Amino acid sequence: MPELPEVQLVASHLDLLVRGRRIEQAMLHRPRLAPAFAPEDFNAHLANARIRSVSRRGKHILFDLENERTLVVHLRMSGRFSIAPAGSEPPRFTHAQFELGAETLHFSDQRHFGFMNIVRSDELGAAKELCKLAPEPFGEAFSLDYLRSKMKASSRPIKEFLLDQTKVCGLGNIYAAEALFESGIDPRKRADRLTKPKAELLHTAIIAVLERAVESSRAVPVEPGNIGGNFYGEQDSPDWRVYGREGEECPACGESIIRIKQAGRSTFFCRRCQR
Ligand SMILES: [Zn+2]
Repeated sequence: MPELPEVQLVASHLDLLVRGRRIEQAMLHRPRLAPAFAPEDFNAHLANARIRSVSRRGKHILFDLENERTLVVHLRMSGRFSIAPAGSEPPRFTHAQFELGAETLHFSDQRHFGFMNIVRSDELGAAKELCKLAPEPFGEAFSLDYLRSKMKASSRPIKEFLLDQTKVCGLGNIYAAEALFESGIDPRKRADRLTKPKAELLHTAIIAVLERAVESSRAVPVEPGNIGGNFYGEQDSPDWRVYGREGEECPACGESIIRIKQAGRSTFFCRRCQR
């Protein structure tokens, strides 16, 4: 599942590729992708609209259109965009396509969890997909005080707390594990039991791990045929320190990294460094 840095990459590459272009026609091939619209209404809301920009809020991609509407897209597990010459055979599992003149933008999704909605741009903040999202981690509103007030109100394990997009926005399973390692916090610890110094370390670590990932993604080349799909490039194992490293040595102390299940998902951590 893409996390904030990956979604940021997809949005910035889309912005480079489609900004200023006009959607001549939109075709919704799988109606459940955009359940709020009949396929003909989906097209009616997008046809002839020029794309002003593509950006991101949380893990949602936002196409800001000149007709004062915004196309909101969530990639979920396997959604991806690609651009091909008009008339090309669409990729497998193409659920929507957007005719941009000489080229077509395809949205394909093997696992079928992707999601689209069209909202009025002036009501974007109130859209149900976005209205409950926590503040952006790189913005001022995501302060230490903010994080502590949310943690104090939660008795859930801190790892599960970090995945809740209404509390902290943009983290998924990978960067939650990395932020907890970097701050030396046991992922099973209750959110409301963390000390102020630990909360401070965690707040710094969340921002740092996301910033580093966004920074390293700047080297990823723009590939119209596979937008954002080469996020991890040629690397087999990106420089995660605990995620996916069960049984390997902790980079800080040498103890074996262990894996446990929390709320049905894997958590990787070092028992010695994270308390
Ligand atoms: Zn360790």
